Amino acid sequence: MDAEFGVVGVGTMGAMTAWQLARRGASVLGFEQFAPGHDRSGAGGETRIFRTAYLEGAEYVPLLLAAQREWRDLEAECGDALLTMNGGLMIGDAEGGLLRSVLASIAAHDLPHDVLDADRAAARYPQHRLRPGEAMVLDHQAGYLRPELAVLMAAQRAEELGARIVRHEPVVAIAPDDDGVTITTAGRSWRVGEVVVSAGAWTQRLLPGAAPDLDVQRLVMTWFAARDPAAFSADRFPVFIRHTGGYDISGWPSIDGASVKVAVNYGYDRVGDPDRLDRGVDDGLLRLIRSAVGELLPGLVPEPVRVSAYMDGYTADHHAALGRVPGVPRTLIACGFSGHGFKMAPAIGKALAELAVQGSTDLPVGHLDPGRLRDRERPARRTVAAELAAA
Ligand SMILES: Cc1cc2nc3c(=O)[nH]c(=O)nc-3n(C[C@H](O)[C@H](O)[C@H](O)COP(=O)(O)OP(=O)(O)OC[C@H]3O[C@@H](n4cnc5c(N)ncnc54)[C@H](O)[C@@H]3O)c2cc1C
Repeated sequence: MDAEFGVVGVGTMGAMTAWQLARRGASVLGFEQFAPGHDRSGAGGETRIFRTAYLEGAEYVPLLLAAQREWRDLEAECGDALLTMNGGLMIGDAEGGLLRSVLASIAAHDLPHDVLDADRAAARYPQHRLRPGEAMVLDHQAGYLRPELAVLMAAQRAEELGARIVRHEPVVAIAPDDDGVTITTAGRSWRVGEVVVSAGAWTQRLLPGAAPDLDVQRLVMTWFAARDPAAFSADRFPVFIRHTGGYDISGWPSIDGASVKVAVNYGYDRVGDPDRLDRGVDDGLLRLIRSAVGELLPGLVPEPVRVSAYMDGYTADHHAALGRVPGVPRTLIACGFSGHGFKMAPAIGKALAELAVQGSTDLPVGHLDPGRLRDRERPARRTVAAELAAA
């Protein structure tokens, strides 16, 4: 046996799982087709939003609070700052779905926050041009993460604690049997006791017929020059999510002191082959994001100075699949984070490590059980054309 546990895909979730397994004293063998910290799939682009007043459902809040503690543990172990809590603004129609969902999470878990009506919001955050009827909720337990550094540090800590990570070696087959799991790479075969498959957009290729159906979507990030960069520094400009007049966008404070990243919150392009992620600029999408920035963020020049594309796997209900794969022995899975998984990654790694080592976890991840996705119907796809028509 080469190790007790194999981790296939040392990206966001795989790096955190390897770290969490290694700090429990387990022997770990990780496989990454590129190298941890690369920017060719789910992580990359300098920043990810962390937030706890969760619009995707109040059931996530305990998991997100656990993730916050795990981020601090990882920072303490690696000595680098990964999570900056500069607050998170949720902006939308005062009576609309975004603020209703966020306030439901806040009420259910008594989360620290401020509700800002249009006048207070305009006075406190003039960087945002509000439309009539809009309001803001400031989530105090929100901010931004540094994705590349976080993945690198988790992988590095795992190795310091005894894990082995095989880099630049794609796994081509995973074959569980009664005694263990054979993992085959181009170079050789390896034996482990159990395997965690955290291969993001490539998951179905490794577990054909057994992994949940994933719709792999391309997500584009765009950076805009700030006219007055100081107005967009972390202490003055919280991360934000805004649903308004058909736009569904996010933004981050300036990290480089010159530009501000603004992104649409949804993938519009299906990625047929994750080995061929198109990193090119898409005119329809750029028109959408340019018009959103021009109308809503007057302090930015509405012509992107930088564009980059990534991808994530989306499940039918846009919640991840985490746990044992139904009908496949010795195999755990973590995939389908549907555009919102980064913030919870170290808690997901902890849940996987506990499930692998102890067979159970106290972390509240029951709503992510992969079994729920069988026979689930997909929602209609959103399109740039529909978004532009609504804006
Ligand atoms: C543009 C964008 C913005 C986002 N914004 C946010 C945000 O603000 N907040 C938030 O919480 N979440 C956000 N997300 C979501 C979050 O980043 C993803 O959900 C998360 O990174 C997915 O992690 P993963 O481990 O599933 O996939 P990945 O990080 O892609 O990891 C999968 C890894 O498996 C490796 N791999 C695949 N196949 C093989 C193989 N055969 N052999 C070896 N290795 C293999 C890949 O190379 C990769 O490193 C965003 C996502 C995107 C794309």
